[in-house]
Amino acid sequence: MKLEEIWNKTKNQLLQSMPEADSIWLESTYYDSEEENSIVLAVPSQFYLTSYELYCKNPIQNMLDELSGTNIHVQVVVKEIQEKEDSPTETEEVHKPITPVKLNPAIRDSALNSSYTFDSFVSGDNTLFAYTSAKAVAMNPGGNYNPFLLYGGVGLGKTHLLQSIGNFIRSSNPNATVIYVTAEVFTNEFIEAISKRTTPAFKQKYRKADVLLIDDIHFFQKTDAIQEEFFHTFNALYESQRQIVMTCDRPISELSNITDRLRSRFSRGLNVNLQPPNYETRMAILQKKCQERGITIDVKILDYLSQNIKTNVRDLEGALTTLIAYSELIKKNITIEIAQEQLKNIISSPIISNQDISPYMIIKEVGAFFGIDPSALRGKKKTKAISDARNIAIFLCRNMTEYSLLEIGKQFDGRDHSTVLYAYKKVESAKLSDSALATTIDTLKTNIMSKIK
Ligand code: ADP
Ligand code: MG
Repeated sequence: MKLEEIWNKTKNQLLQSMPEADSIWLESTYYDSEEENSIVLAVPSQFYLTSYELYCKNPIQNMLDELSGTNIHVQVVVKEIQEKEDSPTETEEVHKPITPVKLNPAIRDSALNSSYTFDSFVSGDNTLFAYTSAKAVAMNPGGNYNPFLLYGGVGLGKTHLLQSIGNFIRSSNPNATVIYVTAEVFTNEFIEAISKRTTPAFKQKYRKADVLLIDDIHFFQKTDAIQEEFFHTFNALYESQRQIVMTCDRPISELSNITDRLRSRFSRGLNVNLQPPNYETRMAILQKKCQERGITIDVKILDYLSQNIKTNVRDLEGALTTLIAYSELIKKNITIEIAQEQLKNIISSPIISNQDISPYMIIKEVGAFFGIDPSALRGKKKTKAISDARNIAIFLCRNMTEYSLLEIGKQFDGRDHSTVLYAYKKVESAKLSDSALATTIDTLKTNIMSKIK
């Protein structure tokens, strides 16, 4: 019998008997060629090779020997599978000798939130494509969807899905080096490496990744050295078919801070827009979160939240947490009235989008409140009082209107998107610990709302 036939039988039989998690690797192992008593198998990437060694090597060897009645010599090569319709340069064959990848446990332990899994992510309508493609990447890292980019607004689950990919791969292949990092941390580590003259260690760390998960790439600054470094890291990983997954708050074409060659690298592979969930999915998310916490909440309340908090899952979750905390601490059942009262800060703000509120009005109100001329709020002056008030105005523009970061930036002397987002986040986090600031913001919101009624 030809070895190819024996191989086909081997593969079929093992697929039936192997644990499902291990069979993912066998599925992607293919017959390549044969000589007398010697067979060459192919796997799609270096990453698969490591998994092959761990999960498939012994069972395959045993089964081949058993079915052929002799000792078969097995060799495995890395060979890109040519089934995708990609540019010609990407379909070149890559042959590599088997070199077991050395794994560094310290790197593997980079922070992944274990609760961010595919199981805890509710997918439906708008989020379905992002969810399904993220799962496909996790099932076949280094495969057809490389790099994989998820983009979309704040609080829609980008980090959740990115980390789900990491958690999935770690559990199906515990030896894979999965690195999660935000673009900001990558940048800071690189700067530190330069100042401490440890760039070789930095480079080595990232280039060892089987899977690199890089969050919030819009935070890459227009600093040539950093982009240059990331460009090389990206190429090194890409060329050895390691999986790269990125998230961004907007499509790559709208990233202004990025060099053209990096932009073209990023837009290869698969780019998927994670959109805000629709009403049914918002309800399902709330129900799932209640279930996870072992709590029952009247469906009318969940409906109230889903009807009113539309654009941001993080806010939706936050509202639920507030209500649960209230009912636990005050020991009262939550009624619609209680929900309205407790959530008035979230819900009265036009997350419910309000077409009538403009950055112009907000700047005017904030100026009047702090006694600062609107033109100074818009301008460049950096005295503390002015820049604090400006940050609040920026925060309110982002929070109360549907204007994009770019459009908001234009109202403030052409500040760029990342400056606007930075100001927004700064106020958002400061108001958690600074109750005076939280009150000021509520008052300003009330003032602004009163102008449109
Ligand atoms: P982003 O990175 O897009 O800003 P995150 O991934 O941090 O958003 O998501 C914000 C919060 O909302 C997280 O706690 C996440 O678990 C939750 N979340 C977002 N989308 C979903 C979803 N579809 N199902 C369950 N939880 C979700
Ligand atoms: Mg995120």
